[in-house]
Amino acid sequence: MASYDVIIIGSGPGGYVCAIRCAQLGLKTAVVEGRETLGGTCLNVGCIPSKALLHASHMLHEAEHNFAKMGLKGKSPSVDWKQMLAYKHDVIGQNTKGIEFLFKKNKIDWLKGWGSIPEAGRVKVGDDTHEAKSIIIASGSESSSLPGVEIDEKVVVTSTGALELPKVPKTMVVIGAGVIGLEMGSVYARLGSEVTVVEYLDAITPGMDGEVQKNFQKILKKQGIKFVMGAAVQSVDALKTKAKVNYKLRKDDTEHQLDADVVLVATGRKPYVDGLGLDSLGVEMTKRGQIKTDDHWQTSVKGVYAIGDAIEGPMLAHKAEDEGMAVACVLAGQHGHVNYNVIPGVIYTHPEVANVGETEESLKDQGRAYKVGKFSFMGNGRAKANFAGEGFVKILADKETDRILGAHIIGPMAGDLIHEICVAMEFGASAEDLALTCHAHPTYSEAVREAALACGDGPIHS
Ligand SMILES: Cc1cc2nc3c(=O)[nH]c(=O)nc-3n(C[C@H](O)[C@H](O)[C@H](O)COP(=O)(O)OP(=O)(O)OC[C@H]3O[C@@H](n4cnc5c(N)ncnc54)[C@H](O)[C@@H]3O)c2cc1C
Repeated sequence: MASYDVIIIGSGPGGYVCAIRCAQLGLKTAVVEGRETLGGTCLNVGCIPSKALLHASHMLHEAEHNFAKMGLKGKSPSVDWKQMLAYKHDVIGQNTKGIEFLFKKNKIDWLKGWGSIPEAGRVKVGDDTHEAKSIIIASGSESSSLPGVEIDEKVVVTSTGALELPKVPKTMVVIGAGVIGLEMGSVYARLGSEVTVVEYLDAITPGMDGEVQKNFQKILKKQGIKFVMGAAVQSVDALKTKAKVNYKLRKDDTEHQLDADVVLVATGRKPYVDGLGLDSLGVEMTKRGQIKTDDHWQTSVKGVYAIGDAIEGPMLAHKAEDEGMAVACVLAGQHGHVNYNVIPGVIYTHPEVANVGETEESLKDQGRAYKVGKFSFMGNGRAKANFAGEGFVKILADKETDRILGAHIIGPMAGDLIHEICVAMEFGASAEDLALTCHAHPTYSEAVREAALACGDGPIHS
């Protein structure tokens, strides 16, 4: 029986980052992973492969729509889907092998197989049982579906199937207008599929700032994506190579149907805790099937911790990573900390959408007085040069103190731009602090400064 300071179950961004930090802090560490490769959902069937396809399809869009305008003439590229999938596989391989290298470098053992916890202090993998002073569950999540909708990963697919379709479908229905549905819908729309998004609510991307939701939907519509809003999907009839989506409009209960070559079910994800033995171990769960943890990510069972998608909070890779690093610090006797108020969210469509902190709606709900500083990318020289003038930066600041409370960006590189606002928020900065910081010209980030200026005496370029 091997003995460790820490055994982590799951090698996604939560698990592998936690393992590396544990090892760096001098703890003898092992990771249990049942998948063939390390990296979890994120590297194998999530963040990384989806971004590879978003990148490739965006390049096609640029070639088709913007090259000629810049004097780059010639035949637009055509889609070699097999090669695009090979490129995606190569990107996955480089990333997952990178984690394997980091494990070796940090002397972390990979215990291959599916793990369970027969009792605190013990992890079973296949026929072997290992001892650990602390156990961390980082088992992640899986796609959830709807009643009446059966997934076959061929015609009716989750995001995993959508990343691996045998060909680009002529028609695709996406059920759910959340991040994953809109990213994958964008990929296929750019590659030529006719994409219709069916959403239960009246707005896309639930939880986002209302103004961003409306503008973002307008932009996606302009790109050719169709939307059926306020629609409750009743069932999906899957035939061999086609499917029928049956839905009711909530406003009048009328029944409708949509045909599609592929139906992508993107209605959310749920924690994956199968086979861990949490019931018999006595680990308390929330009503939504998440593992309950305290302020130090310890579950109701002493010595057993949990992080990432398996617990409460946004299901995001960087949230899992931060929890991984924090819990490693706790186990090494240091202070582990995650600021849940400053966790950015990004949608990697084009333009990108990014947000952090409060929305106008959440501030109104709290009855807080706030001001809005907004700046359009149309006033940003770099964005204009790059055909990227769509969208805006919006900063929300406290009306009295000017402290930044939240930010919302639609526009080029929004997912990168958001971080200067995250740093500002971490330091408790005011909008004026941001506005007084010199920003290089010409950069997209000047739009962030202009939005900060708009919280005070006004922006320059609008
Ligand atoms: C299509 C898609 C795109 C996404 N894009 C983004 C994005 O752009 N940005 C972002 O922040 N997030 C994104 N996400 C979400 C992100 O992937 C997750 O938030 C993140 O992977 C969660 O990390 P985790 O470590 O908690 O779990 P996971 O990454 O899910 O990893 C858990 C691992 O644990 C293993 N495991 C589970 N149980 C056991 C067991 N009993 N024994 C052994 N191994 C086990 C699993 O095999 C898995 O490899 C995306 C998700 C999807 C599906």
